[in-house]
Amino acid sequence: MPLIEVKELSFSYEKSSNLKKQDLSNINLNINRGEIIGLIGPSGSGKTTLVQQIGGLLRPDHGTVLFDGLDIFKDSKVFRKLRYKIGLVFQNPEEQLFSETIFKDIAFGPHNMGLSRDNIAKRVLEAINFVGLDKSILSKSPFEISGGEKRRVAIAGVIAMRPEILILDEPTVGLDFEGSRSILSYIKQYNRENKNTLILISHNMDDIINLTDKVAVMSAGEIKAFGKTGKIFADPVLLHSLKIDVPEITKIMKKLKEKGFNLKDSVFTEREALQEILRLKYTI
Ligand code: ADP
Ligand code: MG
Repeated sequence: MPLIEVKELSFSYEKSSNLKKQDLSNINLNINRGEIIGLIGPSGSGKTTLVQQIGGLLRPDHGTVLFDGLDIFKDSKVFRKLRYKIGLVFQNPEEQLFSETIFKDIAFGPHNMGLSRDNIAKRVLEAINFVGLDKSILSKSPFEISGGEKRRVAIAGVIAMRPEILILDEPTVGLDFEGSRSILSYIKQYNRENKNTLILISHNMDDIINLTDKVAVMSAGEIKAFGKTGKIFADPVLLHSLKIDVPEITKIMKKLKEKGFNLKDSVFTEREALQEILRLKYTI
């Protein structure tokens, strides 16, 4: 059984008008336990709206979301049981830090779960460790730390609830290269160590290719393609028709090929590029 099953889901923000546009229409999506799913598509295509439905924050007009076979919208009892199992990190989550100390901010979720003081402290330490921050930061105020640190603290606050699925809505947006790399590396490690399920929304195709097993491509409220990441990015016709950007390394390799180097057509990772360049030594 898939961990998450989105079934024939449709949704409009506008409920009254006859001319209402469908912000999500007939979405079907199965996510298996342990998978890392990338969600891509242009701004306004419905990515955030879809993950808010999966997180139970917005109720679909039609269709539903099943978690482990349970309809999350069935009744409040089911929802209460599931709400901590689905961890949603909003876009720019650092804007929601509000406590006097980092400790209190990360402890907020575990506290609401009704855990004991000892357990809460344990969860907070575990989470701060996961996002690569030193525990000395816990006594600071959110106003005293950098933007990248705030982002990590906000993610730690969700990880501290130990959700079975972690959903990250553009986790690296606005961060510099180093900040992005470190956030992605611990997300990868988190998935490896916990074998938990992940949905990553991103506009950075390098990150999508390096991190995800499968990718869903959205456009105008629909999922236009869903499949193994390698397969989706190896299909130039599909990439072109859905206007999917390609990684920087792919662009660089294409330019070199145009300059006359004997390189293969589509190279998507830095590792592949290195292999191709090393292979050149036999031909130049
Ligand atoms: P994405 O995350 O892919 O950029 P969104 O899910 O934010 O896309 O938006 C999907 C569509 O829903 C867009 O047309 C957007 O304008 C609309 N939308 C998003 N949030 C709201 C809202 N709170 N009220 C009304 N319309 C919204
Ligand atoms: Mg969005």
